[in-house]
Amino acid sequence: MRYVSTRGEAAPRDFEGVLLAGLAEDGGLFLPETWPVLTTAEWRALRGLPYPDLAARIMALFTGGTPSEGELRTLLAEAYAGFGHPAVCPLVQLDARVFALELFHGPTLAFKDMAMQALGRLFDVTLKRRGERVTIVGATSGDTGSAAIEACRDRAAVDVVILHPEGRTSEVQRRQMTTVLSPNIANLALQGSFDDCQDLVKAMFADAPFREEMRLAAVNSINWARVALQIPYYVAAALALGAPDREVAFSVPTGNFGNVLAAWAARRMGLPITQLIVGSNRNDILTRFLSANDMTVRAVEPSLSPSMDIQVSSNFERLLFELLGRDARATRDTMLRFRTEGRMPVTDAAWRDAAQLFRGFALDDEGTLEEIGRLWRDCGYLADPHTAIGTAAAMAVPPSDRSIPVVVAATAHPAKFPDAVRKATGIAPPLPARLADLYERPERFTRLPAKLDAVETFVRAHARRNAA
Ligand SMILES: *Cc1c(COP(=O)(O)O)cnc(C)c1O
Repeated sequence: MRYVSTRGEAAPRDFEGVLLAGLAEDGGLFLPETWPVLTTAEWRALRGLPYPDLAARIMALFTGGTPSEGELRTLLAEAYAGFGHPAVCPLVQLDARVFALELFHGPTLAFKDMAMQALGRLFDVTLKRRGERVTIVGATSGDTGSAAIEACRDRAAVDVVILHPEGRTSEVQRRQMTTVLSPNIANLALQGSFDDCQDLVKAMFADAPFREEMRLAAVNSINWARVALQIPYYVAAALALGAPDREVAFSVPTGNFGNVLAAWAARRMGLPITQLIVGSNRNDILTRFLSANDMTVRAVEPSLSPSMDIQVSSNFERLLFELLGRDARATRDTMLRFRTEGRMPVTDAAWRDAAQLFRGFALDDEGTLEEIGRLWRDCGYLADPHTAIGTAAAMAVPPSDRSIPVVVAATAHPAKFPDAVRKATGIAPPLPARLADLYERPERFTRLPAKLDAVETFVRAHARRNAA
C-alpha cells in the first residue's frame, strides 16, 4: 500500500512513512494511491466481530503488512481495553430512525481517543523498530490535545508539545491537558485562535530544517493514520444496522473534517452510505460551501462547541483532491488561491458532486441548548453540545428516503461540557470515577504569543531536554 500527496510533489511513501511524516513536504496531505474496496460478501464476513478485531481487519487494508494484522490486533486490543464501555463504541437508539454512535468512552471523553489511543501505540511500535524518536507538535481546540497527551504520556521515544488557544477551551478540556505532568509532555497556551495555533503547527512543518532537526510528527487529523483509525467505527455501526444489505446515513458534528472524511472513506471502500450530514456551529463555512459553493473564511467565533470553532477545515483538501479527479496540480492551485484570497475556488462540477452526497446544517448556541433540552425531555438522553448539533442536523436534513437510519457521531461525553448541559437540562452530568479529582490536580502550562520563533525556541528546548 503506497500513499501519495494531494499536491503531487512529495515522494510516495508506505504506511509507516506516512505515520511518521504527518504532512507531506509539499504541504499536501497523504491518501492511499488506490482505495481498498470490499465486496458485499467481504462486508458480511465482518459482522459480529469484537470492535478491536474489526478495527484490525480494516486497518490491515491500509498498512500493507507493517504492522501486520496480528500486530494490529494486539495493539488495538490494548488501545481499547481502558475504555469505559465493553462495546468500546456502543450504538444507542434515540428515535425510530436516529441512533447515537457513542465515541466518547475513552480516557479523555471525546471521540479523538478512538484514533489516538491506537496512534500513540503505533508510534511506539514503529519508532522502537527503527530505533528513532520524534517530537509531536499539535494544535488543539480542546480535545485533540488531551487525547494526544493521554496517548503519549511517558512514552520513551516521543516528546509532545500541544498548542491551545488560551481561554478558548472548556475548563475540563484544559485540565485534561495541563494536569498531565509527565516530563515528555508540554502545553502552550497561545494568545490567538485555534486557526492561529493550527497555522503555527503548519509553519513548523513547513520549516524544513526545523522539522528535520526536531523529527516533527503530527497527531492532528492531517496524519492519515488518524483518519484511517476512524474508519472502523463507521463500518461497525453500518454493519450493526444491516449493511451491506441496507443503506445508512451518518450525521457528523464537524470541525477539521477529519471525522466525516473517515465516513466518506468507508463509503469509498464500498459501504452503502447514502448521505453524509455535516453539522456545524455558527462557524458555518462548510454549510455555506455545501449550500452555495461559498467557502469564504470569516473570523472564528467562540461557541458552546469549541472543538468545532474552526474556519479552515484542513481535511477538506483530501476530499477536494478526490472531487477534482485526483488532479494534484488543480488541488494545489485551489489550496494556494484559498490561502491568498480567503475564498476557495471550487469548480461547479466538483461542488455539485460534493453537494449531492453531503448536506450541511449549522446551529447557533441557542439552538444547541434547545436541542440538548429536547433530547433529554423526549429521549432521556444527555448529549454534549457537539453531539446535539449532530442530532439536530439528522432531524433537519434527513435522507429523502425516511426508512434509512441516520447514525449520529456522538463525539463527546456530556460531562466534558457540564455548563451547557446544566443550562439546558438542569442536570449536572458527573465525571466518570476515573476523572473525578480532575479539578483538584495541579496544572502546568506556558503562555506564549502566537509567534513562530517563540514557539520553535520552546519546542527545541523541550525536545532537547528529554533526548539528553
Ligand atoms: C474534534 C471534535 C469534533 C470535530 O471533529 P473533526 O474531525 O475535526 O471534524 C467534533 N466534536 C468533538 C467533541 C471533537 O472533539
